[in-house]
Amino acid sequence: MDYDVIIVGAGPGGIFAAYELTRAASGQKVAVFEAGNVLEKRKCPIDGKNVKSCVGCPTCSIMNGFGGAGAFSDGKYNITNQFGGTLYEYIGKDKAMELMQYVDTLNLKFGGEGTKLYSTANSEIKKLCLQNGLHLLDASVRHLGTDINYIVLQNIYHLLKEKADFYFNTPVESVRIEDGTYRIITAEREYSCKKCIVSTGRSGSKWAEKLCRDLQIPTKSNRVDIGVRVELPAEVFSHLTDELYESKIVYRTAKFEDLVRTFCMNPYGVVVNENTNGIVTVNGHSYEDVKRHTGNTNFALLVAKHFSEPFRDSNGYGESIARLSNMLGGGVLVQRFGDLIRGRRSNLSRIEEGYVVPTLQATPGDLSLVMPKRILDGIIEMIYALDKIAPGTANDDTLLYGVEVKFYNMEVEIDEHLETNHKGLYIIGDCSGVTHSLSHASASGVHVARCILAGENGSY
Ligand SMILES: Cc1cc2nc3c(=O)[nH]c(=O)nc-3n(C[C@H](O)[C@H](O)[C@H](O)COP(=O)(O)OP(=O)(O)OC[C@H]3O[C@@H](n4cnc5c(N)ncnc54)[C@H](O)[C@@H]3O)c2cc1C
Repeated sequence: MDYDVIIVGAGPGGIFAAYELTRAASGQKVAVFEAGNVLEKRKCPIDGKNVKSCVGCPTCSIMNGFGGAGAFSDGKYNITNQFGGTLYEYIGKDKAMELMQYVDTLNLKFGGEGTKLYSTANSEIKKLCLQNGLHLLDASVRHLGTDINYIVLQNIYHLLKEKADFYFNTPVESVRIEDGTYRIITAEREYSCKKCIVSTGRSGSKWAEKLCRDLQIPTKSNRVDIGVRVELPAEVFSHLTDELYESKIVYRTAKFEDLVRTFCMNPYGVVVNENTNGIVTVNGHSYEDVKRHTGNTNFALLVAKHFSEPFRDSNGYGESIARLSNMLGGGVLVQRFGDLIRGRRSNLSRIEEGYVVPTLQATPGDLSLVMPKRILDGIIEMIYALDKIAPGTANDDTLLYGVEVKFYNMEVEIDEHLETNHKGLYIIGDCSGVTHSLSHASASGVHVARCILAGENGSY
């Protein structure tokens, strides 16, 4: 036996599982296999000057490598059961909160000390939202910022590399079960272990789906979120972002009664490209360091779509829409809100004449040629609703980047220990379809490690 536990994927799920497994002198021999690079070598070639768009690297430095998809993220750890995943359905609400708080203490210990914790508790903004048909979800948000998040990851890695074996640039090709042990197959060689934790995130979702098919682990279809990223002058949202940093606001549209929600709010931040399996979509982040602040705030407006019968490939639907924007714009499209409302495409001169300076170089175009009418109508309605609590949101110059797609993995059938129908095989984090945030993915890693350390019945 090469290892007691092998972890596939060094995103937050895998990292916190490795941390907890090796924290006390547990005697567990642990290895982590990661398709991408060590943190310091993760460099996206897009520099905005010589390389302006995605060149399709063998592994994407934004999504793969130590730190996972979260490494260059805004480092917003939302401590809540109201969004970010449904971990609580498996382990209970109290335990889920307890684990997210534990992860928060670790983030502080490894370099996040002094960062701010925002909270919606007792906020007047909740009332303002309700008065205007909007609903503010409850959460505490630790904002590490992209810069501090990087330092925290660096510090955790320095500790972990002494306690576990890391194999970078080593994608696991498949996992086989032989006589109750697991064979982890890589291009170079095979490794054996007693227990295997799969935490391959969103970028490894197709791989995880294949694994489930091969090992006959039941899955069910999940949702896909489709929308745009909004960018506007930071002053428009400053009364919300100064107090809450990130506000998750939900709106039920009058026309279709669909739910539209704000997602991933980045005050004084930047809009960025995201590459998932070769499809370029949009995302955003911001820095804790004020010197790196921009004059803009960005956030996503998303609508969830869930397909089950006869078509169950929700991700495929989202991918097709993103492909359409890539086909028309060679990547991400950008449009002024005023142009969208007037039914005309944005062009370079209209963007340049606008008062909002884009932080991402995207192709000016027409989002109505890409987004399904129902989704776009919902987003427009929500922009007017937000304009009531943050006047200026519906200004002509507000920029909309498209498309933003949040892909979810198929929901994998796992039990309260996050264990599959194969004893000793655990599927956690975003690739399980159960989590879709830093804090939930990290908490799932701690939980699974504690279940493994607890021994036979897995309860702790
Ligand atoms: C730009 C951006 C900004 C974000 N901002 C936030 C935020 O502020 N707050 C928040 O809560 N969430 C944010 N998210 C989402 C968050 O990053 C994810 O929810 C979180 O990283 C999920 O953790 P994970 O460990 O499940 O998976 P991941 O972080 O995706 O890690 C999975 C790892 O597995 C590796 N892998 C995949 N397949 C294989 C294989 N076959 N073999 C070996 N390794 C493999 C990948 O290379 C990757 O490193 C953001 C995401 C992005 C892309």
